[in-house]
Amino acid sequence: TSAQIGVTGLAVMGRNLARNFARNGYAVAVHNRTASKTRELMDEFGQEGDFVAAESAEDFVAALERPRRLVVMVKAGDPTDAVIREFAPLLEHGDVIIDGGNAHFADTRRRERELREHGIHFVGTGISGGEEGALHGPSIMPGGSDESYASLGPMLEKISAKAADGAPCVTHVGPDGAGHFVKMVHNGIEYADMQLIAEAYHLLREVAGFSPARIAEIFRTWNTGRLDSYLIEITAEVLSHVDAATGEPFVDVVADQAEQKGTGRWTVQIALELGLPVSGIAEAVFARSLSGHTALRAASRGLAGPTPAPLGESEAAAFADQVEQALYASKIVSYTQGFHEIATGSAEYGWNIDLGAVAAIWRAGCIIRAAFLDRVRAAYDARPDLPSLLSDEAFAREIAAAQDDWRAVLVAATRQGVPTPGFSAALTYYDTLRADRLPAALTQGQRDYFGAHTYRRTDREGVFHTLWSGDRSEVPV
Ligand code: NDP
Repeated sequence: TSAQIGVTGLAVMGRNLARNFARNGYAVAVHNRTASKTRELMDEFGQEGDFVAAESAEDFVAALERPRRLVVMVKAGDPTDAVIREFAPLLEHGDVIIDGGNAHFADTRRRERELREHGIHFVGTGISGGEEGALHGPSIMPGGSDESYASLGPMLEKISAKAADGAPCVTHVGPDGAGHFVKMVHNGIEYADMQLIAEAYHLLREVAGFSPARIAEIFRTWNTGRLDSYLIEITAEVLSHVDAATGEPFVDVVADQAEQKGTGRWTVQIALELGLPVSGIAEAVFARSLSGHTALRAASRGLAGPTPAPLGESEAAAFADQVEQALYASKIVSYTQGFHEIATGSAEYGWNIDLGAVAAIWRAGCIIRAAFLDRVRAAYDARPDLPSLLSDEAFAREIAAAQDDWRAVLVAATRQGVPTPGFSAALTYYDTLRADRLPAALTQGQRDYFGAHTYRRTDREGVFHTLWSGDRSEVPV
């Protein structure tokens, strides 16, 4: 047989993607460095579709129809380069390598450039949705050339998640590293979403005094409204889960040290390089990091703070509604920051990314899937050059309606000593952007005082310096 697509790297993601292709009627060649994994796949799932098992790289390549399409689903980093080194010499002009791993977009740009010289298309592709998504329909973010997308797009559309309106959750994001860049920002936004939800939980627990089971019910209610999303849904599931060994709420027996694999950190690192204030995403990364500093936390345990005094029942119920407002407003800010990063990356690297199309393919399949993304899409479709999501009238109106409660929640959190890095960073970003004047003017004065760094004026063109240690007259520079 000749296979229409091949998958090499048959851990959870690769195996499930291969099965997804096969179920959609494609003949799929499968290969793994350790051949026993290939045999396992054939034994367990070989009946599901038209698989061609290949034990060697040569057999794998020979099994593919031309132009060949090889999906690489191995551990990101050096393993990806090792696989490319192994396969590239066996490929021909026009063949396509699809890297579905969580690669750094800069690596993708390098690999694309190197392979292009040999006439091979390299399509760095973000895939989100975890192992379930890979099997039943992920959100797919391919980069690479137009030509490669023409041959690959229809297949990816078939295996992808479908939004409520039936649209496949895949789009050609842009050239070279665009797909992996967008996947990176997706993960950064995912960190922020998770952090905001965690803060909402913490406030409902500490300030309102609710049990995890009660909070689960609140999240279930929120999930029927504008916060309707996968992450809110699974939060309710986790909060209502009871630990079998102790009979305690599961969330009370899990060690409170959050881990991370790195894509959230990349989102912040790249934002710093591009000069972008993704403060909400950064706080989410820092919150995970700080939670893991157990020695520092232990050494700080006795430090002074208020004694939490839970609210009475009717106040607590009203507080829960305020937290919903704060969460929603903060979520708008996180997405504002994330899309700002995509827009800036797109301009920096010449990718010409359609922000509305990105929002559209995140509506299903991926971890941040949410009803909200339909709104984001609508905002960018109405105005592709929207400077910020906060400039969208509908979002601005919702924040206007939420802001009193948002502030009240942060007052309560501060008074009770409950940390809210995500909510606070979001409100700070919002208040900074809407301010008429910022103390940045004073910062410029300080910089000019100690370093003669100069400043511009509000009333005249030009660059100036004040002779601080002289007669304090102003000189044009
Ligand atoms: P892993 O990241 O655990 O990678 C395991 C696979 O990589 C195995 O097939 C392994 O082969 C192969 N591999 C490792 N080193 C080499 C090498 N030097 N040469 C050849 N093959 C090698 O698997 P996952 O399925 O979890 O993830 C695959 C990719 O998808 C990763 O890049 C991951 O970041 C990304 N991803 C994962 C998601 C998830 O939810 N897990 C979600 C979205 C993306 P062998 O069996 O021989 O060891």
